[in-house]
Formats: sequence, C-alpha cells, structure tokens
Amino acid sequence: MTTSIYLDNNATTPVDSRVVAAMLPWLAGAFGNPSSIHAAGQRARGALEAAREETAASLGCSPREIVFTSGGTEADHLAVQGAFLSRGATGLVAIGATEHPAVVAAARALEARGAAVRILPVDENGVVSLDALDTALAEGARLVSVMWANNETGVLAPLEAIAARCRAAGALFHCDAVQAAGKVVIDLRQVTIDLLSISAHKFHGPKGAGALFVRRGVALAAQQPGGHQERGWRGGTENVAGAVGLGRALSLALAELPEADSRQLAFRQRFIKAALAAGGHLNGANAARLSNTLSVSWAGLSGEALVIALDLAGIATSSGSACAAGSTEPSPVLAAMGVAPALAKGALRISLSRMTTEEEVVLTEQVLPEVVARLQAPGRKSPA
Ligand code: PLP
Repeated sequence: MTTSIYLDNNATTPVDSRVVAAMLPWLAGAFGNPSSIHAAGQRARGALEAAREETAASLGCSPREIVFTSGGTEADHLAVQGAFLSRGATGLVAIGATEHPAVVAAARALEARGAAVRILPVDENGVVSLDALDTALAEGARLVSVMWANNETGVLAPLEAIAARCRAAGALFHCDAVQAAGKVVIDLRQVTIDLLSISAHKFHGPKGAGALFVRRGVALAAQQPGGHQERGWRGGTENVAGAVGLGRALSLALAELPEADSRQLAFRQRFIKAALAAGGHLNGANAARLSNTLSVSWAGLSGEALVIALDLAGIATSSGSACAAGSTEPSPVLAAMGVAPALAKGALRISLSRMTTEEEVVLTEQVLPEVVARLQAPGRKSPA
C-alpha cells in the first residue's frame, strides 16, 4: 500500500502550494544572480532582500541579522564553529545532551581544534539541567548551544532562563530552533539568544534552505569562505528561490499557528490516549512539549518494526532509533533521558502538521493499537 497518511512532519513537511507559487518566478524566468549589476541580477537581489525582510519580521529581528544557509545543519555549524572560532579556538563549549547530530559534530570539530566540550545532562523528561549550565558558565564556557525543541520528543527548553544565564556570564548562546520555528512564536526582541538556526523544510518550505540569526555585534568566522555573499560569512551564489520560499513559509506558519496549534494539541491528545491504552509509555510526559510531536515507547517491541508495520498500513511515522549497519541502536536522546534500553528500542515518533486531518487521525487511532497487538503476539521475535 502506498503511504497516504503522513505523520512524520519532524523529518520534513510537504511544501505549501502558496510557497511553491512564491518560489516559481525565481526558478523559471527571473533567474539572475543577485551579485550581477545588470537588471536581471538586481531583480534577484531585490527578491533575496525582500525574503530577508520577511524572515526577519517573523523572528523579531533586523534583516541584517539574517544569514541564509543551505539548511539547519549548515546554520548549526556556522553558529557553533563560526562563533567559537572567531573568539579564538580554545576554551569551553557547552551543549545539551539531546542536541541534533549537527550541533554535536560542530562541537566535536571544535574539540579536535583544542576546545573543551561539556555535555549538559537532561532530566528524565529531557529538560536540560540549569545547575549543570551554571557550573559550565562558572568554569568559563564561552559558547552554549541548547535546542529550542527536541526533534524526537518535542520537549521545549527553558530558554529564557538559559539565555539570561549566558548573557549574565558573558557567554554566547546558540539555539537550534529547527524544530521550533513555525511551531512556536520566536521573538528575538524578547529573548537574548545570540545565534538561532532554522530550516524551511520543517515548516512547509523547501529543502536546502535555512537561515542563521546572528545578533548584531556577534562575530563569526566564515565556515564556507570563498565569496562576499551573506556579508562574507557564507560564500556561494545565494539560493534565491529557496530564501523566498523560506520567508513565505515562515510567515504562513505564523499566521496559521494559533489554529494549527490548538488542532494539533487535540489530535496529539487522542494519539496519547490510544497509545497509552495500547500499553505505550509516553516519553517526556512531564515536560512542556511541541503540540505536534509525540514519542511513545513499547517495551519489548522494535520501533523499526512499528514503523514498517504502520507504513504497510499506509501511515508514515518514524522510530526513535538510529539504524546503523543493520542493527538498531536506541536513540541517544532517549538514552540521555535515562529511558531503559528495552523501552528506548521500542520508540515511535508521530509528528503532525497543520495539514494533518481529522480523517487521518481517526484511521491512525484505529490502526495503531492493532499494529501494536499484532507485534506483541506470542511467537513474534522481540528485538535483541
Ligand atoms: N536541527 C534539528 C533539531 C533538526 O531536527 C534537524 C533536521 O532534522 C536539523 C537540525 C538539520 O536540519 P537540515 O535538515 O535542514 O539540515
């Protein structure tokens, strides 16, 4: 059966048709290079700068504080490596224990160049320890990176508290907001984040288009040198259509956020009920979470088997496990939360979007318990 119900929106989202319409003129027809001085180039420059203004307006910052990138991964590297290296290659960088691999890799790259890396633990709900942050800051951490919302569990970080502590200690604060942008209100006038990463394909925009907010006065060492573009911080001809799509997608997501949020909350509640009734364990249950994300585990089941069985029933979801060389490793996010390996291996992530419908929820509510029961049936091999 081909998939007809898409509940894997934290992996990526379908592009909104209004976003496609905004992008099309910059793919066909008006194809100029924004660096060219002729009219075609200047039209493209105009579109790029309008996209920067639209993006900045959605985030509560100045257009000059937006650097377009190829996505969240690049924005994370530019923030963590670029900001740290511009302050010298030594010292302490502190990251949350459940960060995306892009942030982890950026911190490890700094470690290879002489920096010390501190992993800030999270509690059983996935919330980063402020005590550990205080200790790292007292020891002179120069850069802190903590994600706004976790991609697997949807758990939200205590951002104001983290930002205030970093500011008071003189450390830079980078926030990976790839899963938060378009799903919560981000107002950079209200919270003292220095660097913030977003990625268009997580909020019904195109893949390969991201942005990094760089607060005025924060210096960066370019991670992709070789051109004057993006104030020299990110060389390479700009993805004009991608930037236009990002700006439009973010405005649309914010305009529709209140309605989407309450609908998703209601849907998520129904999924939680169905999953708990089927013996599931809710991960991050006691933390504030994104309304669109649900992580549930079944001891003795394999998350991968759940995903495959649901896919065969036409429902696309995700497991909390990273599949490497044929063996499923429990998710590092759940491991950091202290979720027992047997439970962590049986994790299922359901992630909704504003496009999720009532019919899709009704069908999934029915199918999920059936799939769980079938996989739990005696005689089925449980994961090693
Ligand atoms: N950060 C988080 C929290 C993510 O969930 C993702 C994508 O899954 C990324 C960064 C990477 O974003 P991109 O796919 O745009 O490189």
